[in-house]
Amino acid sequence: MTYERINFETDSERAVGDEKLQHALVNVTNRFRSARNKASSEVPGWDELRTLAREIKKETIENLDRYLIMLEENVKKAGGHVHWAKDGEEACRIIIEIARKNGVNSVVKSKSMATEEVELNSNLERAGIRAVETDLGEYIIQLAGEHPSHIIAPAVHKTKDDISRLFSEKLGVPYMSDPADLTKVARERMRSEFLSAGMGVSGANFAVAETGTIVIVENEGNARLTTTVPRIHAALMGIEKIIPRYNDLSLFLTLLARSATGQKSSTYVSFITGPRRESDADGPEEFHLVLLDNGRSGILANGETRESLYCIRCGACLNNCPVYRKVGGHSYGWVYSGPIGAIINPQLLGIDKAPELPFASSLCGACRDVCPVKIDFPKVLLELRHEVKETKAETGKGRELFFERLAFRLWRTIVTHERLYGFFSSLMYYVQMPYRGESGGLGSLPYPFSRWTRDRDFPAIAEIPFRERWKELRKEIGEGSTK
Ligand code: SF4
Repeated sequence: MTYERINFETDSERAVGDEKLQHALVNVTNRFRSARNKASSEVPGWDELRTLAREIKKETIENLDRYLIMLEENVKKAGGHVHWAKDGEEACRIIIEIARKNGVNSVVKSKSMATEEVELNSNLERAGIRAVETDLGEYIIQLAGEHPSHIIAPAVHKTKDDISRLFSEKLGVPYMSDPADLTKVARERMRSEFLSAGMGVSGANFAVAETGTIVIVENEGNARLTTTVPRIHAALMGIEKIIPRYNDLSLFLTLLARSATGQKSSTYVSFITGPRRESDADGPEEFHLVLLDNGRSGILANGETRESLYCIRCGACLNNCPVYRKVGGHSYGWVYSGPIGAIINPQLLGIDKAPELPFASSLCGACRDVCPVKIDFPKVLLELRHEVKETKAETGKGRELFFERLAFRLWRTIVTHERLYGFFSSLMYYVQMPYRGESGGLGSLPYPFSRWTRDRDFPAIAEIPFRERWKELRKEIGEGSTK
């Protein structure tokens, strides 16, 4: 699959000017944030639990090969099939082959970022297989022909009015203003899809290596229907979703639900170990687990950014990010948005496809402070920024980089030589004069500084430098005083 270059700057400018989106973003992220803060404050030793989860993920990712083989063995022991997909194309091909082999021409899907990542729906459609999303948010997004704009709330950018109009246009139902009526319409449509689909496709929140169990967390019950009603169940998951032991689940489930929605537990938590057994009342006859790499091995090989693979996709970093809260999910140009999108998209797609994303952060660290696995975002972002600069140099587009380096070398020379610094700041005081605005700040500097002053003033250089004022002050309080 080939992806276009992501244009964060252009798309985010558009998003900031969209009043309706701004309103929706504030509402939803505020609601998630306060629910998460309340839920986490009620758990004694919350921070220690996050540290423990990080340690478990670190150990798992560093031994990923071993745990994946263990998972494969245990899924097979339970009667399931395991498939390895090196990229999105292979993942789609595997799922299409499973469908064709079983004569399936319609599929129900539960929410899965991995299937969004590989564009499974459009690939199924091209293969003549109908795919229907059954998570309400994903269903809305599918009808609208859009991408999700939040990891756990895919239709967060849509208002009730948008959804009513969409349902009228696409489903031919009258305009409805009550969300309960809209949900009823979607539920009725889905029921018949569940009953007629030959295959259910899901993602997985976790896969337990020691038992071969996949775990799916949700609130609507649609994932449980997707994985139990159709004759075949195929689950697609990124290789990083693995955890070593069954006993680790209680920790991760505690962290995931509270970090995501502020719930103590999600409404439905399904544990799936292989297909239906003889003694089971229901369940699929076949269970397939597709393990997706799609660039993850590349992240694994980079010790500086490897921790990006610890993510359990709770969405807390999005809700707390001052950038996401202004620009929304679509500005990030791909399925993953917010701080996790800023670090994952450039690594999975290639840094040349998303060079602006590592810069889509103020490095305030709010994402790291809420992340249940304590991903050190500022560190990873700085590393990726460095890679962006290096890539520009390597591809011969390093003119900008050359001047930037030159500027910083000059600056270093100036600030490390007192006399030179004194001369330079006096000189700059006079140079800046034509640019001083009424507020006293510098309002419209020439290029390249205009990129800063386009949106805000630059502080003006004071007439009396601080070192002069300091000398005066020392005289006033007495030479050599430590006051
Ligand atoms: S990076 Fe951390 S906070 Fe963000 S979605 Fe992943 S686990 Fe949640």
